[in-house]
Formats: sequence, C-alpha cells, structure tokens
Amino acid sequence: MALVNIMEEIVDNTIDELIGYSGCCDCDHCKEDIKCLTLNALPPRYVSTTKGELFSKLSQAMIKQHSIDVNIACLNAIEFVKTHPKHN
Ligand SMILES: [Zn+2]
Repeated sequence: MALVNIMEEIVDNTIDELIGYSGCCDCDHCKEDIKCLTLNALPPRYVSTTKGELFSKLSQAMIKQHSIDVNIACLNAIEFVKTHPKHN
C-alpha cells in the first residue's frame, strides 16, 4: 500500500490540457514549475492505493469535484511561469 496525492494526477492532466492554449512554454522545466506552484496552492488529497494500481480508478466525480479549484490554481501558476520563466 502507498499513499498517493491524487491532486498530483489531476493537476498533471489539467496542466497538459491548459498549457496548449496559454502560450506558455511547455518544456519539462516550466511544466515542473507550474505543477509545483499549483500543488502548493491546493490542499492535498491523499488516497491509499496498492502498488501498481493505476489512476484509471480515479473517479470522474472526484475529478469534477476538484476541477474548478484545480483549473483556477493551474491558470494562476501558468500565468506566473509565463511571465517569470526560470530559463531562456
Ligand atoms: Zn520552458
């Protein structure tokens, strides 16, 4: 068994969805920064999961429940990284 913060998975998916429209650089470095900022802005949601179990089990209801907050946090983070890129 392992504890997993399902917010990480939701945030990963949301960043991939939003970054394309944002005009923000989508290199690994920037994505990592965005993920970090977004996760810090959101409360973690831990679930216990058995090893190897995939997040396909993540319920749509659970994603929907958090999607507005996650979207807002993601957009804020993307906007920040876009205007404060750490690399050239
Ligand atoms: Zn970048």
